[in-house]
Amino acid sequence: MAANDRCLFCRIISGEIPAKKVFEDDVAIAFNDINPQAPTHVLVIPRTHISTLDDLDEDEANVIGMTIVRATQIARNLQLNSDGYRLVVNHGEAAGQTVFHIHFHLLGGRNFGWPPG
Ligand code: AMP
Ligand code: ZN
Repeated sequence: MAANDRCLFCRIISGEIPAKKVFEDDVAIAFNDINPQAPTHVLVIPRTHISTLDDLDEDEANVIGMTIVRATQIARNLQLNSDGYRLVVNHGEAAGQTVFHIHFHLLGGRNFGWPPG
């Protein structure tokens, strides 16, 4: 899918909007959430513009798989792996999705309740 000029996260990828990046490669970038919900709250996003989980098909399996692997590497680099962390994707209105470019919330540094709110 082509980069979307109006998409906030595509604009962060292009550098038009600043973000505190913690990782980037040719598949994915990661940056600190502007409104953190945990001591560590990083958003890990594919460079490819995909709006929601519901837009995924098998053509995107590789990019999404690689993005998740990157998230786990970032978690390890930030030393979240031993205590534990949460990796979350919100889909649609009921789940509270506000930015329509798939992103994985990597949350760590505190305990999380289950079921989630
Ligand atoms: P979601 O509600 O799952 O769509 O998550 C969108 C996330 O993007 C929220 O946690 C926001 O705090 C975060 N966010 C919105 N604008 C920015 C920005 N300019 N830089 C970093 N994070 C942002
Ligand atoms: Zn986008």
